[in-house]
Amino acid sequence: MLCFLLNRCQRKIYSPKRLRDASVVIVFHNEAWSTLLRTVHSVIKTTSKNILKEIILVDDASTRIFLKSDLDNYMKKLTLTFEIPIIILRSKQRIGLIKARLIGAKSARGKVLTFLDAHCEATTGWLEPLLDRIAENHTQVVCPVIDIIHDETFAYAKSFELHWGGMNWNLHFRWYPIGQEDFKKYQSLNEIGSFRTPIMAGGLFAIDKEYFYNIGAYDYDMDIWGGENIELSLRVWGCGGSIEIVPCSHVAHVFRKSSPYSFPRKEGVMGTLYTNLARVIEVWMNQDYKNFFYKINPVAKKVVYKDEPISTNLSSKLVNISSRIEIKERLQCNDFSWFLKNVWKENFFPTRDRFFGKIQNIKLGECFQKPNTIGGPSSVGVGRIELEKCLIETYAAQCFIYTQSGLIMTDESLCLDVLDPMVGSSILLLACSQIKRQKWRYNPISNVVIHIQTNLCIDLSSTIERRVVLNKCNNNLSQRWQMIPINWYEY
Ligand code: UDP
Ligand code: MN
Repeated sequence: MLCFLLNRCQRKIYSPKRLRDASVVIVFHNEAWSTLLRTVHSVIKTTSKNILKEIILVDDASTRIFLKSDLDNYMKKLTLTFEIPIIILRSKQRIGLIKARLIGAKSARGKVLTFLDAHCEATTGWLEPLLDRIAENHTQVVCPVIDIIHDETFAYAKSFELHWGGMNWNLHFRWYPIGQEDFKKYQSLNEIGSFRTPIMAGGLFAIDKEYFYNIGAYDYDMDIWGGENIELSLRVWGCGGSIEIVPCSHVAHVFRKSSPYSFPRKEGVMGTLYTNLARVIEVWMNQDYKNFFYKINPVAKKVVYKDEPISTNLSSKLVNISSRIEIKERLQCNDFSWFLKNVWKENFFPTRDRFFGKIQNIKLGECFQKPNTIGGPSSVGVGRIELEKCLIETYAAQCFIYTQSGLIMTDESLCLDVLDPMVGSSILLLACSQIKRQKWRYNPISNVVIHIQTNLCIDLSSTIERRVVLNKCNNNLSQRWQMIPINWYEY
């Protein structure tokens, strides 16, 4: 009877013999006492002893006094009470999360490395499903579903289901709805399994320790914070592994509005992130995407190249980049273009065989622009498409991709769409979902953009200025659009 009351995740039985033990590695810099302890206590409480080898805390040169002997004493007591080794390692200098995780990994005795941020809450049964996927195949890198600990009330909230990780044109990590093909595959499974994710969030994941070192661990020369999840994701996928999200495993995380700690570099968060990303680009991207990235992101160009041209040989200036390129060559890894084509087909990056550029109304002379709505990062750009003066320089909000399958998409996985499609309906930008409603056909001779489902044309509203709507096709100048390509692959 009980069996029927349990959900599918609770009913699943994991053979303990199959699972290899894990070391949980938690790095922190000036973490709050309560959140750090919430992480450690929740891990102890929710993890069976036979699969938890130890908890390793790595203190990245915190300056808060309570994180020193008070923490030592507290953890000693916990170790004795629960008979789970809790080890504290300390770095004298601020080294950043990447190097700190490497210190933790090096001393780990478990067969699987499980990284968590220092402000998490693990939930009952979180670790078994992760270890089970690794037991199935040790090249699978696995992530729990990351739930939300509210950053003011610290209440636990479930996050959205069936989202995977990607990145925007600035190479910032983002959540997007999972691709249709993967969604169908996932739905057709009899039991709750896992689904792929192109990019991993980075803070919470498990990886076979031997595999971690075989594929080159982390790039040791990345500083403080950021970009390491993009690098590891491109490396795992590119070099023959895979990354998954396992819906039966839930761990919550405090998503903070801004970093609570200082960034030693004078350019702050973005300076640090873009300096790290410059390494990712140098190793994993060909010249096309390198040019695209710096063209679309002038801030990154400024941080990385200052006032020099981007043709400057950056590789020779970056520390130990050649050792990262060696790994790529040794393992014969695929690069970013392959990743886009094979791992993340639903991506919204430009490629040489699809249109990338501005879309200008011939009558008004103005261009489509992504709305700059205020809200969470995922809601930015959702709303009515706007018309603004066309800018000569490459301006991301005026850049669109027209795919062979008929999508008109832009950064952040937003697609030209229309709710209740009929004469007069506003043209919107909504999350891409590959439904027929989001398909368009552009005729480069008559310059009309036709909504395939309804055979209506994109037109200017006759009553509201700068409003873009569907209308019966009538050959008027207001229905004519110029797709002006931008040479994204040359800087
Ligand atoms: N961290 C660290 N040293 C640093 C920066 C961050 O040890 O210089 C730790 C931080 O305490 C946290 C983890 O690395 O446990 C991830 O950082 P954070 O939570 O700020 O990243 P976010 O979740 O905001 O991406
Ligand atoms: Mn965090």
